[in-house]
Amino acid sequence: MFTSARDLGYTSVEEFKEQTARKVRDLRCPEHRQPPRLRFHGVSLRDVSIQMSGCCGKLIALANQAIAGRSPQT
Ligand SMILES: [Zn+2]
Repeated sequence: MFTSARDLGYTSVEEFKEQTARKVRDLRCPEHRQPPRLRFHGVSLRDVSIQMSGCCGKLIALANQAIAGRSPQT
């Protein structure tokens, strides 16, 4: 699953990675109690993307929801 950083309104790659990691930090699969794993690709906001993996599709869906949501302070 890939998500565009610029579409989410971030202004730097560092902010994007930090905020994204924070959003899923406490997330666990309701069935397997596993956290999602994130891998970032790209060095600029133009081409950075997330590769997400997890124990099952339910966790991936939850993580996608968490990441797509706006962080409270923005
Ligand atoms: Zn699971």
